[in-house]
Amino acid sequence: MKARGPLDPRFVAEVRSRLLEKWNRGHRDLPWRRRRDAYAILVAEVMLQQTRVETVVPYYERFLRAFPNLRALARAPLPRVLAAWSGLGYYRRARMLREAARTILSRHGGRFPETYEEVRALPGVGRYTAGALLSIAFGKPFPVLDGNVARVLSRLLALRGDPRRNADRLWSVAASLVPPRAPGEFNQALMELGALLCAARAPRCPACPLRTGCAARQGGGVVARPAKSRERERPVRQEGAESVNTPPAPPFAPSRSSRFLASLRGSKAANASGQPAPRTVRAKPRGKRRPPAAVPVVDVAVAAIWRGDEYLVARRPLRPGTHLPGCWEFPGGKRRPGESARACLKREVAEELGVEIAVRPEFLRLSHRYEDRIVRLTAHRCRILSGVPRATGGQDEIRWVAVERLGALRFPPANRPILERLLAFRRSRSAGS
Ligand code: SF4
Repeated sequence: MKARGPLDPRFVAEVRSRLLEKWNRGHRDLPWRRRRDAYAILVAEVMLQQTRVETVVPYYERFLRAFPNLRALARAPLPRVLAAWSGLGYYRRARMLREAARTILSRHGGRFPETYEEVRALPGVGRYTAGALLSIAFGKPFPVLDGNVARVLSRLLALRGDPRRNADRLWSVAASLVPPRAPGEFNQALMELGALLCAARAPRCPACPLRTGCAARQGGGVVARPAKSRERERPVRQEGAESVNTPPAPPFAPSRSSRFLASLRGSKAANASGQPAPRTVRAKPRGKRRPPAAVPVVDVAVAAIWRGDEYLVARRPLRPGTHLPGCWEFPGGKRRPGESARACLKREVAEELGVEIAVRPEFLRLSHRYEDRIVRLTAHRCRILSGVPRATGGQDEIRWVAVERLGALRFPPANRPILERLLAFRRSRSAGS
C-alpha cells in the first residue's frame, strides 16, 4: 500500500478529543493502571504480549508480590523468576524481562532510561513496548500499534490489505494521532476501543466515539476490515473483548463531519467539496511465503493416580535448566518410539515413584503448543497396585491433593484441561451419590 499524505489536523484533533473524552468518562480498572512507575508498566506490557488481559491479571499481581521492584527482579535467580511466571507460557518473555531489569541496573544505575533508543536497546523491548512504556510511564508522545490498534486504524481509514503489510502506514498514522499531552491515556484509550468496541467479529459501532468519521462504517465494510492474510497467523498482543455499557456519544457536528471523513484519506486526497478523491489500488506481486518453522512434537502420557478424592502430584525441581521449574504436575512422561501410553505410564511411574499401577483407558487427549515444542498428551486415571509412592525421580516433593484443591497449585498450561476433567468427574460422582 502506498504511503499517503499527512492526516488533516482537524481530523487528528477530533480523534484525540473524542478518545480522551471517552477515556476520562471511564475505563477498565486494571491493576497496572493504578501505578505509574515504569517497572510495573514494563511487567504488564511484557505479560500482555500474546496473552489476554483477564489471564494476565492474577499472574501480574503474583509476580509483583514476588518481585516488587526492578532491583528485586534483577537480583532474583532465573529459576525463581520462571517459577513465578509458570503457567503464563512463552517463557522467553520472563527471561528477557529479567535481562532488561539487569541491564537497567548495570547500564543505567537502576534508573529507567527515558529515550526511545535506550528503551529499545533493552532486551525483549520492541517498538510496541517502547511506545507503551514511554507514553504511559513518562508521558512522551510515542505511538503504539498492536492488533487492536491496527484493527481500529484500518477501519477508521478504510485501509485495504493485511495490517501486517500496511504496518509502515499504520505506525505513521498512530504517530500522527498520539497527542503531546496525555499520550499514555490516548494510547490506552485507542487500545481499549479496539478491545471492547471495535472487536474483530462484532464491532459495536453505535457506541463508538469515532463512529461518525469512521470510513469503514460509512462504506459498510466494517467486518471485512482489516483484510486477513492467508499467511499463518502469529500471536499478537490481545486484550479481552468483554462488554461495557457505553452511552452513545454525540455525533460530530454536521459541518465538520464531511471534512472529517475526507481527511481520513489524507488532506491532499480531499477535494474542495470535502469529497475524497478516487483511489487507485495497484496489485502487488506476491512474494514467496516462508514455510512455518518446524517445531518438535513430543508424545506424552499422564497418570492421574487417585486415592479416594485425592490425586498424586509431584513438583518439578527449581534448579536451573529444568523446564517449567517449580510447577506441579501429574506423573508420567515422554513415550518412547513405538511405546504404548499404558506401557509408558507403567515404566515412568515405577521409575518416578517406585510403585506399580493399573492404567485405565485414556479420558483426555489434547495438543498444546509451547514456545519450543508441541506436546501431544493422553491422560489416564490410574490406581496403585503395589508399593508406597516416594519421590525417586528427582522431584522436589510429591503430595496427595484433594481434587478441589488442585486448582490452587501451579500446573503447566497443558495440564489445565486435565484438572477441569477431574473436577467434572468429581461433580458427576457427587451428583450421582
Ligand atoms: S465505528 Fe465501528 S468500525 Fe469504526 S472505529 Fe468505531 S467500532 Fe470500529
